[in-house]
Amino acid sequence: MATLAPFSLPGRFLRGNLHTHSDRSDGKLSPEQVIATYRDAGYDFLAITDHFLAVFEWPLVDTRSFQSERFTTLLGAELHAPRTEMSDIWHIVAVGLPLDFAPAGPDEDGPALARRARAAGAFIGIAHPAWYSLSITDAETLDAAHAVEIYNHGCHLMHDKGEGGYLLDGMLDKGHRLSTYACDDAHFKCPDFGGGWIELKANANEPETILNALKDGHFYSTQGPRIDEIAIAADAVEVVCSAAKGVLVAGQGYLSAYHFGTGLTRVSLPLESLAESPWLRVVIFGEDGKRAWSNPIWKDNLVKA
Ligand SMILES: [Zn+2]
Ligand SMILES: [Zn+2]
Repeated sequence: MATLAPFSLPGRFLRGNLHTHSDRSDGKLSPEQVIATYRDAGYDFLAITDHFLAVFEWPLVDTRSFQSERFTTLLGAELHAPRTEMSDIWHIVAVGLPLDFAPAGPDEDGPALARRARAAGAFIGIAHPAWYSLSITDAETLDAAHAVEIYNHGCHLMHDKGEGGYLLDGMLDKGHRLSTYACDDAHFKCPDFGGGWIELKANANEPETILNALKDGHFYSTQGPRIDEIAIAADAVEVVCSAAKGVLVAGQGYLSAYHFGTGLTRVSLPLESLAESPWLRVVIFGEDGKRAWSNPIWKDNLVKA
C-alpha cells in the first residue's frame, strides 16, 4: 500500500475557506468581522472573495494587515463575465489575485477572465455549478479552472443547490484533471458559516505556500469528518478516518465500492468493481451524515509498487 498525498506529505493540516463575502459586495459583515469570525473559530486561512463587479466598484479586499503567524489571508474575488447557457454571467472563484488585477474588459468573457486571473497567479474554482445549472459543455470552456466546488454551504441552505459532484465527475470523465473543494460562500445573512471547508497540508502557514498547495491539490474537503490517511494498492484502497458510518470509493458512472457500518475508523475496500474507472475519489459519511471528500485520484498517476 502506498499512502497518497496530501496524507504522505510533511507539515500539518491547515483549515481554510476559499469562498466568502463581506460588505464590500453583498455580504452582511465587514471584512474585519468576517476575518475575526473565521480566525476565532480556529481556521488557519481565509480568502474573502467579493463579487468583482462594477456595481460594487470592483472590490478586491486588501486583507494583508490581518495576516499573522497564526492566520493567513489570501487575496481573492468572485469573478463574473458573460455568459453560460443558463446564466448571463459566470461565477468563478479566484484566490491569489494581485491587488492591481484589472476589472473585466467589455469584451472579456468568463473563460478569458479566468485565464487572465490564472496567468496572474490565481487558483481558479468553478463556483456552485448546481446553483446556476452549469453544464459540462460550459464548464469545459473554462480551461483555466483548477477545481470544482463539490459543496457550497450557502447554496445548500438557501437554494438546496449546494452539490457539485455531478459536474466534477462529468469533467473527470471528459479527462479534465481538476481538484475539488468545499466552501461556505458565507454572506452571513443566514447560518452559512462553517458548513464546508478544506484541510490543506503545508509546512508553513503563509500565502505562497498555501497557494502552491492549492494548485498542487494537497488538500481534502469536509463538513466535519476527518480523513487521516488514504493508501492504495493495485487491488484495494485503505482509508483511515474519524468514526464514520460509511466509506465510499466513487468512480466513473455507476462504478463504486463501499462499506457501511458503525464507528468505522479504518476501512479497506477492494477495487475490483472500479477496474474500468480511470479515476477514483473517496467519500466519508460521518455518523451525523456529514461528509468528507478526497480530491480525485488518477490511477495512471500512482507509482507502480
Ligand atoms: Zn456566485
Ligand atoms: Zn459567492
